[in-house]
Amino acid sequence: MVRTDGGLAATCHCGAVEIRVRRMVRTLTSCNCSICRRYGALWAYYAPHSVSIRAPRGGLAKYSWNRRIRNYYRCARCGCVTHYAYRRRQRHTTVAVNAANFEPDLLKGVRIRHLDGAASWKLLD
Ligand SMILES: [Zn+2]
Repeated sequence: MVRTDGGLAATCHCGAVEIRVRRMVRTLTSCNCSICRRYGALWAYYAPHSVSIRAPRGGLAKYSWNRRIRNYYRCARCGCVTHYAYRRRQRHTTVAVNAANFEPDLLKGVRIRHLDGAASWKLLD
């Protein structure tokens, strides 16, 4: 874990992509939808202005499907899923950071809630 400017940094495995946030969220979301269950991501939601993403040119690959509401980003080098963001002209602007890229110590005591994204879109706990 890198801690500078009073913020927290999450990095992909190879370190090419770094995401900085000001603070850890209170709850993380584990979702069972078709993509989240495959990624195994733990989502931490932030307002866009409180997230800074550093990546080399061409260092982020993205994926979207179906109605293409969101772009899911991963490191083009090591493949770690780093975040997703809503595409333009969408109502939502939240950026979801994959908190699995933070050092585990930072996640201690943070509640993980389970979202039924596969069916009801309700929290299961
Ligand atoms: Zn990487």
